[in-house]
Amino acid sequence: MQDPFVHAKQILKTLEQNGHKAYIVGGAVRDQFLDREIGDIDITTSAIPNEVQSLFEKVIPVGIEHGTVVVRYKNESYEVTTFRVEGNYTDFRHPDHVTFVDRIEDDLARRDFTINAMAMDINNHIIDPFDGQVDINSKVIRTVGNPDDRFQEDPLRMLRALRFSSQLGFSIETTTQASLMKNIHWVEQLATERVGIEIQKLFAGDFFQSVVSVLFLTKVSRYLPVLKENDHLFDVIKHIKEPLLDISEIIAVFHIAKPEIPIETWVSQWKLSNKTKGDIKNLVGASQQYRESKLTNWLVYTLPEHLIDGFVRIIDVHMAVKLDSSKIMIVKQSLPIQKRQDLAINGQELVQLFPDRKKGPWINQYFFQLEKDVVDGKVQNQKIELSEWIMKWNRPGSI
Ligand code: ATP
Ligand code: MG
Repeated sequence: MQDPFVHAKQILKTLEQNGHKAYIVGGAVRDQFLDREIGDIDITTSAIPNEVQSLFEKVIPVGIEHGTVVVRYKNESYEVTTFRVEGNYTDFRHPDHVTFVDRIEDDLARRDFTINAMAMDINNHIIDPFDGQVDINSKVIRTVGNPDDRFQEDPLRMLRALRFSSQLGFSIETTTQASLMKNIHWVEQLATERVGIEIQKLFAGDFFQSVVSVLFLTKVSRYLPVLKENDHLFDVIKHIKEPLLDISEIIAVFHIAKPEIPIETWVSQWKLSNKTKGDIKNLVGASQQYRESKLTNWLVYTLPEHLIDGFVRIIDVHMAVKLDSSKIMIVKQSLPIQKRQDLAINGQELVQLFPDRKKGPWINQYFFQLEKDVVDGKVQNQKIELSEWIMKWNRPGSI
């Protein structure tokens, strides 16, 4: 098998040839031990950002003040961060200051969990001062150092502990978990965007079901936007059997469980994008349609392709019905039209059918009805058929 780190090692080599120390670090080292697919490869080095910048052709200075630059190499990005220790996280976002250091061990000591605090050199030699390999073998998540200190320093680490537990199927080591329960309230202080990213990863973890009991034990929902004001709403997660892969699915599940809370409230309190808001609305709309009339052609037509899998998961959570995504996809592809523009009649042609009428909202209503009738197979998508069909709708208020 090819070494997944061949390209990254070229970067290590360049750094070393110029007198610096350099290692692959964090998630990539952990995932290699776990035989998991390796995501981003992070590199840590004794070189300061200016030195890194001078050594590589394509460098993006993403966070120089924190010691991080991105090196582009063979179409991949590598975060290259200078060995550093961190000050406090007064704003709950970034450390107030970072100090560059010479020793890899000091850099590893600022990392969150023992399994994330290992480094590997160019010869595959592992530096593991906190026994991360032991914890990988016994499948536990344990903070580097005193958990109370580490969680208070950056409360996001508590959510990270939960999400690694969900992603890896690891349990949280007893002292770490006791501390997590004691300090969980600090989560409320965190920037919502940081929380959202971890929550999304938490729900998407392969072992989500096995962390559900810990989520209730730690009472984390009391410190999350919207959920904190709605006592039993979090109970709905007990019905999640398969991981939810996107924040839109998670919010749709909660909204359907308590429709009194408007989608807008979720979107603003979780600081979600307009795209996510659109996805939530589509998922909720499709779920309502399914509840009322099962899988109609109209539901399949109005459900965007990228949301089919999410819709299937939501129906499973709320109705304990397992739909088949690929069948929905086949139905979708075999519909007479995929979008309004596929109708065999255009706006100008429609208006010409009613020369006496002024343009207005009726045009949109007519198109909507046409889409529906074509999708439902009531009329063929041919210009003549559609024109005759429309003429039958005699008066404007009749549809
Ligand atoms: P993933 O597979 O999700 O990317 P990862 O372990 O690589 O997991 P990242 O968020 O990419 O996680 O962070 C890279 C490394 O930086 C971590 O492995 C850890 O060593 C360190 N790290 C990240 N966030 C924190 C934090 N809040 N506190 C301390 N160390 C952190
Ligand atoms: Mg990573």
